[in-house]
Amino acid sequence: MIARVTLEIALRREFDYLVPEELRDLVDVGTRVKVPFGHRQVLGVVTEVADDSPHTNLKTVIRVIGGRSLVTPKILELARWIADYYCCPLEIALKSVLPESVRREKESWKKRLHVRALTPAEEVPKLTKKQEYVWNIIEEWRELPMAELVRLGETTPDTIRRLEDKGMVVISEQTIDRDPYANEQILPTQPLALNAEQAGALAAVLAALGEGPSADAGAAGSGGRGAHTFLLHGVTGSGKTEVYLQAIARCLELGRGAIVLVPEISLTPQTVERFKARFSSGPGRTLVAVLHSHLSAGEKHDEWHKIRQGRARIVIGARSAIFAPVDPLGLIIVDEEHEHSYKQEEAPRYHARDLAVLRGQREGAVVVLGSATPSMESYHNAVAGKYRLLELPHRADDARMPVVRVVDMRQETRRQKGSPIFSVQLREAILQRLERKEQTILFLNRRGYATSMQCPACGFVAECPNCSVALTFHRREQKLKCHICGYDSPAPAKCPEVKCGSREIRFAGLGTEKVEDALKQGFPQANVSRMDSDTLKRKEDYRRILTEFRVGKIDILIGTQMIAKGLHFPNVTLVGIIYADLSLHLPDFRAGERTFQLLTQVAGRSGRGDIEGEVFVQSFTPFHPAIQYARRHDFVGFYEQELEFRQQLKYPPVSRIAMITLKGRNEEKVAFLAEHLRKEMEPMLKELEDLVIAGPAPAPLARAETFYRHQLMLRTRHMGSLSRRLSGLLQHLKLPDGVTATVDIDPVSLF
Ligand code: ADP
Ligand code: ZN
Ligand code: ZN
Repeated sequence: MIARVTLEIALRREFDYLVPEELRDLVDVGTRVKVPFGHRQVLGVVTEVADDSPHTNLKTVIRVIGGRSLVTPKILELARWIADYYCCPLEIALKSVLPESVRREKESWKKRLHVRALTPAEEVPKLTKKQEYVWNIIEEWRELPMAELVRLGETTPDTIRRLEDKGMVVISEQTIDRDPYANEQILPTQPLALNAEQAGALAAVLAALGEGPSADAGAAGSGGRGAHTFLLHGVTGSGKTEVYLQAIARCLELGRGAIVLVPEISLTPQTVERFKARFSSGPGRTLVAVLHSHLSAGEKHDEWHKIRQGRARIVIGARSAIFAPVDPLGLIIVDEEHEHSYKQEEAPRYHARDLAVLRGQREGAVVVLGSATPSMESYHNAVAGKYRLLELPHRADDARMPVVRVVDMRQETRRQKGSPIFSVQLREAILQRLERKEQTILFLNRRGYATSMQCPACGFVAECPNCSVALTFHRREQKLKCHICGYDSPAPAKCPEVKCGSREIRFAGLGTEKVEDALKQGFPQANVSRMDSDTLKRKEDYRRILTEFRVGKIDILIGTQMIAKGLHFPNVTLVGIIYADLSLHLPDFRAGERTFQLLTQVAGRSGRGDIEGEVFVQSFTPFHPAIQYARRHDFVGFYEQELEFRQQLKYPPVSRIAMITLKGRNEEKVAFLAEHLRKEMEPMLKELEDLVIAGPAPAPLARAETFYRHQLMLRTRHMGSLSRRLSGLLQHLKLPDGVTATVDIDPVSLF
């Protein structure tokens, strides 16, 4: 028996190994193995099993990891597809489909020793005083954990082993599940009576579920017709989650499992609890496994294996949970499908939402993409009939959509002297909430105190030595920091230019820290708290701040995008967006789309209770379409005008992008190679008739972490053909030392 193995060390090829007699039953396609390679031992995945090999002098598989095949044939196929489409070696794709803690040899089940009493023999052997005391306890309990017995009997494991020698007890090892949520008290919930819109959406999903796997499902590469992919477009608070929950319930009844993808940032205890409360409490409970980056390695190992063993049939997790070995799979839900965090920013650069659609087609599972602000790509697919569109245009709890007021900050700047942080309207609205004991959320997607440190005397601006960006001033720490590479240095008290040394240093631009200070000064009666990655140093901080906010200890919460998502606070009736233009002027064709999404999401935090919410959007470009459509809660209006712009420039969703980035410390070398690469690509222009190559040009972030970056952007509607050609080209491309090339297919950001 021969195992063909893809090794973890990237070599872009497979190697044959002999499978020894004693491992034959364990080795199959998808098994993790340890094999000799040169003088080392390395890990790999069996991708094929054969009777013989064209090679001679084969080495032998050393060990099998995890007991049985870990990469199921379906997941292996998915990995192959990723390698092809996203232009990466199979071993890189395979690394992503298993969590680190499952791939490694080290992690295993947690074991606990148990002591069990045997049926008493005719005559009890002679026991010492100590042994007798312990035996009495065991007799009473019949069975208990060793550690517990040691404690109760005030004894040692040795004494208990003596009892085993005498044949009175057996000591055995038992596996125990590490459950990251073991200490939570979760009250069960019942399905809600759906409103007509929800019922309509659910009925469509259930009808598709009832049809079961389509006849050609599973035939790899056959590709379904996408008839089972839904786009659930529902405003924030429209009750999408309740639709998911009831669809999952039906899916379980049909004997199939479900995967729920949530953006990492929304994977809060609150979110997990909603699923556990419906399925994991009370009688007939189903295990819900959670795959979350904050779990310990051991917990991740156990959660994953519970799924592999079929014990947990619902999985909730971030991006990589799309690889969860749920089988048979009936339903995949991708909540907040427009979120960019579904795209992995290192190789393999896959998009979990796109993989969800693909996996659903291959395994005959229904896919539901949900969002209040669908991506241009998904909505375009829905309009084109590739996905079925389901709409929930109203809030479920009858709360009205918040009133959104756009404040023209150009006028405010004239009205108040200097550059005000709060407009008069926003200031008054905050005061009103304080009087009424209601809560306010303020949003600014930039941390720190000031975005740059300048010297008006000589024009000096503090820049990162490693990246082409200005350093951000953090006042509490008195430091200048780079938000790209993490570089920091003490903030100088005077201009560092030797010839200048002026003490008139100016801090320009606005961050959350400065807003916090301004709030404390302007509203001394209020309890103010800030939430950004600077204030959340420890894991518990996030929870603590949210709890304090929920119980009303905090009146005003200022934060970055981490407060924009999925939080429910009925007492929040005011949301202020301090500087809406921030995301609007990024050099990225998706800037308008991102701004529209962000404004809509943040506004959705307001007025979830019985009181109507109010939202203030402060902007210097108040008439920008992204702001105006968000103000009117008009997604379709935004989509249509944005599509026109994308069509003119041939950007997604009317084409697809492959971005090639060359990086190196020597800028000339990088620029030269980018030109060279462009010439190599020219023949492709003839083969792919709609291909457009733009660049090379320096990336918007021209230098990051000491590396210069030059980009080539390729656009086509036929990405499959393009990525195949790119793989070939890049494999044969000889790059000199110090220059690397990366390919990003369907990038979500152009930096
Ligand atoms: P979404 O996921 O679309 O933002 P949620 O599922 O969080 O919306 O629902 C918003 C609120 O409405 C929640 O408090 C939820 O319990 C409530 N809700 C959802 N469906 C119903 C319903 N059919 N009847 C009453 N309340 C509902
Ligand atoms: Zn100076
Ligand atoms: Zn830097």
